[in-house]
Amino acid sequence: MQVYGLIGNPVGHSVSPPMHEAAYEELGLDARYVTFEPSPDALGIALDGASALGVSGLNVTIPFKEDVLPLVEPDPLAERIGAVNTIDFDGEPTGHNTDAAGVTRAFEHHDVSLSGTAVVVGAGGAGRAASFALADEGVDVHIANRTVSRAEGLAEDVPGASAHGLDDLAGLLSDADLLVNATSVGMESDETPVPREALHADLAVLDAVYKPLETRLLRDADDVGATAIDGGWMLLYQGVEAFELWTGRDAPVDPMNNALRASL
Ligand code: NAP
Repeated sequence: MQVYGLIGNPVGHSVSPPMHEAAYEELGLDARYVTFEPSPDALGIALDGASALGVSGLNVTIPFKEDVLPLVEPDPLAERIGAVNTIDFDGEPTGHNTDAAGVTRAFEHHDVSLSGTAVVVGAGGAGRAASFALADEGVDVHIANRTVSRAEGLAEDVPGASAHGLDDLAGLLSDADLLVNATSVGMESDETPVPREALHADLAVLDAVYKPLETRLLRDADDVGATAIDGGWMLLYQGVEAFELWTGRDAPVDPMNNALRASL
C-alpha cells in the first residue's frame, strides 16, 4: 500500500484526504492519504521519519511551506517561489510547488486564455505562486499589496512584474484580463479587497479564498459579467498536480472535484 499525506498544523479540517482518496478509489489504487500534525520544532524529524517509513508523498501546508525548503531538494519553481507544498519521497525527497499549477489550471479549466495582463492582489504565499505561475506563461503581472514593500520585493523576483499599493487597483484593472485575489480578505467576513467599480465583463477573476466558496469578490464579478472562478478550483488543481507528480498518472479530476466540494 502507498501512503500519502498532508503535513501541517493544524490540518484537522483539510479537504485533501477525501479529495485524494476519491482519486485512489476511482483508479483502484491501493493507497491511503493521512494527515500529520507535528509540532513546528519537530519538522525535520517528521520528514526523516516519513522517508524512513516509506511514505510516498506529502503535501505541506501552513506553517511549514517555507520551513520545508531547506529540508528537501526543491525544484526550480519551488525555489523561486520560496515555498514547497508537495514532497515526493521517490529517491531523495524533492520539493515542488503545485499551488502555481493550481492557479494556471483553474483558469484553463474555465477556458480562460493565459495571456495579456494580470493583476495579482496579495504578496504572501498564494500571491507568490500566482505571480510566478502567470509570468512564466508570458502574462504581464502587476502585483498589488496592502504592504507595498512586500509587493516590491516580490516584483523584483518575478520577470517583468510591477509593484503597487491597493489604491492603484482601479487603474490597473481597467486594462487587465485576469485578476487573482491572493489575500485572505473574504475569508472571515463578507469583504472584498477590490472595489466593485473596478471590475468589468472582460475580466476572469480567480479568488484563492475557498472558505467560503462564494465570496463577495466573486459575487461582484458575476454581477458585472466577468468570469468568476472560486478557490475550490485552485485547491483542486494543486491536488491534481500533486497526484500526477506522485503517481505519473492522469488524475480523475471530476471525482476529486466532487469529493472536495462535498467536504468544503
Ligand atoms: P499569507 O502568506 O499570510 O498572505 C496574506 C496576504 O493577504 C498578504 O498579501 C496580506 O497583505 C494580505 N492581507 C491580509 N489581510 C488583509 C487585509 N485586511 N487587507 C488587504 N490585504 C490583506 O497567506 P497565503 O498563504 O498567501 O493565503 C492567502 C489566501 O489564499 C488565504 O485565503 C488562503 O486560504 C488562500 N489560499 C488558497 C489556496 C487554494 O488552493 N485555493 C492555496 C493557498 C492559499 P500584507 O502583506 O499587507 O499583510
